Amino acid sequence: MDFEQKYTDDQERFRKDVQDWLKTNIPEELKEPVDRRADFNEDLVKLWRAASKKLGAKGWLHPTSPKQYGGGGLSAAHDTIIHEEFNRHRIPRREDGLIIANLLVWGTEQQKQKFLVPLLKGEKTSWQKSTEPHSGSDLASYESTAVQDGDDWVLNGSNVFISGRGIPDFLWGPMLTDKSAPRHRNLGFFIIPCPSDGLTITTMPLINGNEQHFIYLDNVRISGDHLIGGDHQGWQVANTGLELEHGGQGAAFPSDSVVETLVDYMRGQKRVGQTPAGDPVLQEETVQAYIEAHLHGLFLKRTYDMYQKRVVVGWEGGCGALYGRHYGLRNAGRVRDVMGMGAMLGPKDPLAPLEGLQEVEQRNSLQHMHGAGSLNIAKVTLARRIGISRTKERPAPTPATAGRLSGDT
Ligand SMILES: Cc1cc2nc3c(=O)[nH]c(=O)nc-3n(C[C@H](O)[C@H](O)[C@H](O)COP(=O)(O)OP(=O)(O)OC[C@H]3O[C@@H](n4cnc5c(N)ncnc54)[C@H](O)[C@@H]3O)c2cc1C
Repeated sequence: MDFEQKYTDDQERFRKDVQDWLKTNIPEELKEPVDRRADFNEDLVKLWRAASKKLGAKGWLHPTSPKQYGGGGLSAAHDTIIHEEFNRHRIPRREDGLIIANLLVWGTEQQKQKFLVPLLKGEKTSWQKSTEPHSGSDLASYESTAVQDGDDWVLNGSNVFISGRGIPDFLWGPMLTDKSAPRHRNLGFFIIPCPSDGLTITTMPLINGNEQHFIYLDNVRISGDHLIGGDHQGWQVANTGLELEHGGQGAAFPSDSVVETLVDYMRGQKRVGQTPAGDPVLQEETVQAYIEAHLHGLFLKRTYDMYQKRVVVGWEGGCGALYGRHYGLRNAGRVRDVMGMGAMLGPKDPLAPLEGLQEVEQRNSLQHMHGAGSLNIAKVTLARRIGISRTKERPAPTPATAGRLSGDT
């Protein structure tokens, strides 16, 4: 079987349309900086949000989401082509995918019109607000509260590590609605408008940049239609998004700039009259990095194919995601072995090889161990999916599979 993506003439014509459209409509200055989490400044945020509106109006911001709500209604192949052209031009992607899944599966028609449509059209942005100071892995031990008051809910609590660029229009995530209910039945899932009275957002700088935030909720009042699903269904709603965040959607066109540029570096560098490619140790390190990157790519493509065909993704998504995080850290070590101190010079250093990309990725390889949940918890979940745990777990419904988990075809 050949795993290379092959395009029809029609699809290649579509690619040309995408290229032409991007050239005319997306400004040259809107390029993801090499240090994308530290150097995505306010000017870029403005350009990015304006571009998102244009892309949303065209249906290319979320190409495979339903057209009736502002998505593209396009096929997986079209999505892949758009992905490829975005990557080629370094156009930053939008990251509202998880809440879009939550709303598609759990939102009422009125909530889809109110929240989903502006997100799919690129008119609004949102951040995921799940981690609390004391609970990241154990989401069911959530302590920030939502108390019903007439038709409204009043929210109190705090969050840490919340990722995002600029200031969003919504925050979303679980809140404790019933302290006396058992775990997994004690949460509601809410969308919180920004700004709101009593809501404070401050920056939480990390080694990888400035995209993480603290959130404080001090008697924030929101109306009842901001509760997605039932007031005891927050765990179930959250898990639809987490299913995708933990690898359940795969990737159409996986690429690994760390390994691609490492290979370029090996080809091009001169050291004392010979290329580093002539050194058997460096050669072996690079070959191993190359193999693992391609193996990971195959995991992602397989899951992507399953998702697009609406097949229930069980262990496959977690396996790819976990493998990806492990090999990413191993490859960071290999890059240091091959490039030496060069791997430690960042984008602001004029002597940095590869515009400082490898130094940025050294820092990012560490954050991948925690963002989207820690490695240990990913292993616990995977163990349940392959039947070697005390408990079993079936995948949460996603937009691809909602209504099909009971075995319907
Ligand atoms: C760069 C970055 C971006 C992030 N973005 C967001 C975001 O946008 N929104 C958001 O809500 N959160 C975000 N997070 C938070 C992230 O989801 C949490 O860090 C993660 O879920 C782990 O939670 P914790 O940090 O509280 O660690 P803890 O849950 O305290 O875990 C600490 C350690 O104990 C281990 N551990 C805990 N429980 C168990 C167990 N039962 N069995 C075995 N080992 C266990 C963990 O694996 C880990 O090694 C982000 C984090 C980072 C680093």
